Amino acid sequence: MRGRELLGELDAFLTETERDLVAFRRDLHMHPELAFAEYRTTQKIAERLTAAGLTPSVLPRGTGLICDVGSGDGPTVALRADIDALPLQDEKDVSYRSTVPGVCHACGHDVHTTALLGTGLFLAQQAAAGLLPGRVRLLFQPAEELPGGALEVMAHGGISGVDRVFALHCDPRVDVGQLGIRSGPITAACDRVVVRVSGPGGHTSRPHLTADLVFALAKILTELPAALSRRVDPRSSLSLVWGRVEAGSAANAIPNDGIAEGTIRCLDEEAWHAAPDLIKSLLESVASAYGIEAAMEYTRGVPPVVNDEVSVEMLGEAAERALGAGSAVPTPQSLGGEDFAWYLESVPGALARLGTRTPGGLTYDIHQGSFDIDERAIAMGVRVMATTALTALWEVTPLDAVSTVVA
Ligand SMILES: [Zn+2]
Ligand SMILES: [Zn+2]
Repeated sequence: MRGRELLGELDAFLTETERDLVAFRRDLHMHPELAFAEYRTTQKIAERLTAAGLTPSVLPRGTGLICDVGSGDGPTVALRADIDALPLQDEKDVSYRSTVPGVCHACGHDVHTTALLGTGLFLAQQAAAGLLPGRVRLLFQPAEELPGGALEVMAHGGISGVDRVFALHCDPRVDVGQLGIRSGPITAACDRVVVRVSGPGGHTSRPHLTADLVFALAKILTELPAALSRRVDPRSSLSLVWGRVEAGSAANAIPNDGIAEGTIRCLDEEAWHAAPDLIKSLLESVASAYGIEAAMEYTRGVPPVVNDEVSVEMLGEAAERALGAGSAVPTPQSLGGEDFAWYLESVPGALARLGTRTPGGLTYDIHQGSFDIDERAIAMGVRVMATTALTALWEVTPLDAVSTVVA
């Protein structure tokens, strides 16, 4: 009964605010800000929340904020949106194109932010009407792309007292109106590796008298990924992919040094923990075979996001209710990294994929300057987030308490 009322209230809320939310997203899209520099974005969110009678608490750096909706002794459910943009040029030809050269919301965080804002405004109405059986904590997290913003939110009490946490991420391969869900790992671990090689250098006519550094570096580039594929369980999908390589300056001179940089992605936590030592030993054995020195800098990124089964059921149930039957669809595990993983090491929760593709339309890709969405996804995000939060609150609220707030 309450579920049907909720849908009617969501419809009414969105009829009134959807256009405004789309305008809010476009404004963010035009003014993207990089990780830990999201000052304007934070202010814009804070203004809207404050105007709705809420009391947002901006994080000490001035980027990102936490805002509770509702109060009392009930359970607490957190909803998280990341707010940062990427250092990429916006290549779209649209009225809301980025006005900041080299910075663009190419990962859809403007969409997550706007959907969470809409959810917060809707839930504030519910709370004012005495219909919120607990507390919903809105986490507007800075610096997901760095990553590290999740740790910043956690360091400032973002998930203390939280019973469950949820997040959505745009998925341009899923149609708008659908929600991609998956239990267990849904993203991958993602680390960075930098390899620096050095040798005596010399004339290219005499590689046998020096050490052929470019050749050795090329061996490292191809041998390391190949060896990993034989030394690690293929089910872990550990993969090393190089993104940058540089050595030398002249056709006839063997250089003294070179560098290669890449990322390591992994679906399995055990293989992730073993990766740095294994890569280091492989690197040393290839380098020594060619008489060069090799040093490795390994930077840990994020662990995989491992979705809690009950939380995934809540998301699926909410999608079926708020977006329609058949709207919850299975989604594959991605090799992308996502710092939402840090929250899930402390609190059960789940991340779902918010469909952003116009059915039959173009399939964009995230982290590309051409990325864009079907803006109906914003309202869909509000529907799913609000319904999920209420579902989670209802499920952990004793029945007599529900009957008093829902009566
Ligand atoms: Zn991203
Ligand atoms: Zn993202």
